[in-house]
Amino acid sequence: MSNVNISIDGKSLKVRDGTTILEAATSLGITIPTLCHIKGLIPTGVCRVCVVEVEGSKTLMGACHTPVSNGMVVHTGSPRVVAARRVIVELLLTAHTGDCVNDTNAENCKLHNLASDYQVGAPRFNVKAPRFHPIEESNPYVRRDLSKCVLCRKCVRACADIAHKNILSIGYRGFRSKVVSGFDEPLTSEACRDCGICIEHCPTGALSAAPGFKALKGGAVR
Ligand code: SF4
Repeated sequence: MSNVNISIDGKSLKVRDGTTILEAATSLGITIPTLCHIKGLIPTGVCRVCVVEVEGSKTLMGACHTPVSNGMVVHTGSPRVVAARRVIVELLLTAHTGDCVNDTNAENCKLHNLASDYQVGAPRFNVKAPRFHPIEESNPYVRRDLSKCVLCRKCVRACADIAHKNILSIGYRGFRSKVVSGFDEPLTSEACRDCGICIEHCPTGALSAAPGFKALKGGAVR
């Protein structure tokens, strides 16, 4: 595979063809925010938080899934990028309902940290009723508060592609879309045991360890 020359935020570098903008930026120590990205898995680009400006391109591009090309000039924090990220975070916050500020999971909420970084306040948009879901505490390992879910799909992919369990999927369509187990059945302890991989990857606090269960990094459980 050949190498290509690119520039990111004024820094020139040579990377292998096929490298994503996110990977190239990371190699330079430049942080591009992400919510849906899982290092090592095929990127999906669903959250759009990682958008960057590429000179010559009319539209902003998702850094996590866009491969570099020779001569590419990328800006990761231009006014256009920052303005777009603020709207994206605001839209994601619209889907992230419920009382997070007083929730013990708030400190683990990467979305709220992003909102703080980008000075995004309360969203201007109305929430559609189907976005509210009752908190599920029937599973002894995972507590689910899907009103806070932004459908980033990380739990689905971590369960399928890292834990190889395939317990979760996205069910329904449009505003009714939600993470489901089976045909939207309760997440029983028979189906979902104690690996905790979904909790570890959830960026919003929608998933947390049930009381009495502690999921440790890497999926080990104590
Ligand atoms: S539950 Fe968490 S990890 Fe799963 S899709 Fe929702 S926000 Fe993403």
